[in-house]
Amino acid sequence: MVTKQMMINGAAETFGIVGNPVHHSLSPTMHNAAFAALGMNGVYIPLPVSDLQKGVEGLKALGFRGVSVTIPHKKDIMQYVDVLDPVAARIGAVNTLVIGNKEDAADRFVYGYNTDWVGANRALMEKIELKGSRVLVLGAGGSARAIGYGLLEAGAKIMLSNRTVAKGRDLARQLGCDFCPLDELENVNADVLVNTTSVGMTPADDKSPVDQKILSKFSVVMDIVYAPLVTRLLREATASGCEVIDGLSMLLYQGVAQFELWTGRDAPVEVMQNVLRERIK
Ligand code: NAP
Repeated sequence: MVTKQMMINGAAETFGIVGNPVHHSLSPTMHNAAFAALGMNGVYIPLPVSDLQKGVEGLKALGFRGVSVTIPHKKDIMQYVDVLDPVAARIGAVNTLVIGNKEDAADRFVYGYNTDWVGANRALMEKIELKGSRVLVLGAGGSARAIGYGLLEAGAKIMLSNRTVAKGRDLARQLGCDFCPLDELENVNADVLVNTTSVGMTPADDKSPVDQKILSKFSVVMDIVYAPLVTRLLREATASGCEVIDGLSMLLYQGVAQFELWTGRDAPVEVMQNVLRERIK
């Protein structure tokens, strides 16, 4: 539980989340709790933006130190970034901007990163060594792309599966990995299963992306869906003897990586985790 109050005065450093819409975002809760817990003079606010160019100019002009970037801007924001992190470039999406020194306008460069893959890897690494692990990734959307490239960074061997075969094969080709159709998954041998599809999300929370009978072969199953926190996939994976990781872990650790990029300080992970868990409940 956070007991400390936020300490904001005229010298506060400002952060936020750029997207459209942003009113459902859990990031303000998580980052403001972190500033408060460390007694930092920082504040994080929702920033609904439709015109990205004006939005980024505004952030620089107003002295924002960094922002999260969410749907629908993760790809388009890249054209306004001065220095792009190489992994974010490979993924083709940015979810974090760091905006250069507030005191020195000439140094107000915009740095772009992707911390979604960092969050997913850190969540998985709590349960398994990724280097050399065989990971089956379900899905071929934005999250699958970030997680796929992240797993390759960590030295995992990946395989992809997706409902729309052409889209799945295309991403698999870009990642340099094999593709397996959903109805042939019983032939796949892997250590880890990661669901990056939205199957199982409220209100369709009676659905699972795969048949329970294939689950026992995986040591670890991670679902990035976080509403509900315990999806049907995770319930069935637990019943099949797998270790499970819920969607809150990736959400938490992508935010932890953002906080550390912005502040250069170790994030108060437990505080951030507790407020997220409280909000999701
Ligand atoms: P996206 O780009 O729209 O991709 C959606 C994926 O889900 C596609 O592969 C799509 O397959 C698949 N899919 C959707 N409905 C399906 C169905 N009925 N049957 C089979 N496959 C289906 O979405 P995204 O941005 O990657 O996000 C995916 C999920 O991850 C969402 O639930 C989101 O809330 C969650 N998420 C969680 C975190 C976290 O930090 N925990 C972060 C980001 C996203 P097709 O290609 O066949 O359409």
